[in-house]
Amino acid sequence: MKAIVVEELGRSELRDDVQPVAVGPDEVRVRMRASGICRTDLSAAKGIWPTRLPVILGHEGAGEVLEVGADVDTVAAGDRVILANLRGCGKCYFCLRGERYLCGHEDQKGAAEHNFLLAGEPAFGMVGLGAWAEEVVLPEISVVPFVGDDVPFEIASLINCAVMTGVGAVIRTAEVEPGSSVVIVGVGGVGAAAVQGARLAGASTIVVVDPIESKFERMRQFGATHTVTPDGLAAAKEEATGGIGFDYAFENVGRTDTLRAAWDATRLGGMVVLSGIGSETTETGLSLYEATMEAKRLVGSVGGSVNPLIDYQMYLDLWRTGQLDLEGLITSKIDLADAPEAMDALDGGADISRQVIIFD
Ligand SMILES: [Zn+2]
Ligand SMILES: [Zn+2]
Repeated sequence: MKAIVVEELGRSELRDDVQPVAVGPDEVRVRMRASGICRTDLSAAKGIWPTRLPVILGHEGAGEVLEVGADVDTVAAGDRVILANLRGCGKCYFCLRGERYLCGHEDQKGAAEHNFLLAGEPAFGMVGLGAWAEEVVLPEISVVPFVGDDVPFEIASLINCAVMTGVGAVIRTAEVEPGSSVVIVGVGGVGAAAVQGARLAGASTIVVVDPIESKFERMRQFGATHTVTPDGLAAAKEEATGGIGFDYAFENVGRTDTLRAAWDATRLGGMVVLSGIGSETTETGLSLYEATMEAKRLVGSVGGSVNPLIDYQMYLDLWRTGQLDLEGLITSKIDLADAPEAMDALDGGADISRQVIIFD
């Protein structure tokens, strides 16, 4: 079958010599129907996000279950499912505390077990998934069934990254209160979802910062009250908050300079939420003096602190009732073969929220 594979860092290619492994007793086989392209896929392809090679990219997708192992009892053949790298085992220290997104944390970087064969040899799905393949075999705990035949797969495919990470950072990680002032630094797919999350949370001021001005009209439709390029942020802070700074900043890029911009835009005692994922060697660039004396909270947000078994359906229900514009997040639909080109477009800074692969 076909899949997008990275055998050698920096080179993503369509291959047709990929197979899913045989279905084990606690595993399911899923036919992929739709899958989004995220900046973290680029990071995995380049080695910024640590991963085992060869890797099948893709960590955001939805499909239908074709086959289940003998011990599987939470999903059945024919179920529509969202791939879920953060569902958690349900039994460990973190899962029992309700922090499922921290379960098996090291495995989130490089999958422990291979779930594909490439030319007959073991190959790994990104974060244990590998959504850019026609079929994938996964543990039962790596899928979440969803309800509603009215939900197109392309809508469901956005949940396990853009939506959970962006909306979740606002409503789960930060728990933004109505009337808050919010600044969102970087509006790709995750940032665009965060704008909608801020609107859902009742933020009264939502400032979007991004170098690509052609995104701004879409962001205003999503709920942004102000849209500025990075050099306009200081003036927007002055205008929107009287110079005090924002209650919350959401950083969706993962660079030292964008963290600095988010930090400086935040008020004393405010919260800076990091959803953008930088490399293991990139430093925050904050001095210890300011880290203490400005009394700001710097919070890492893993997958928007999601609990997939509860939150996925909530996000789909919010979409169904018109409170989340998920169609608006899809800027183009593409074929699997076009994924490498789509990654280049994302890397080149094009005006993109999500490019979604539609499988035949
Ligand atoms: Zn992602
Ligand atoms: Zn667990």
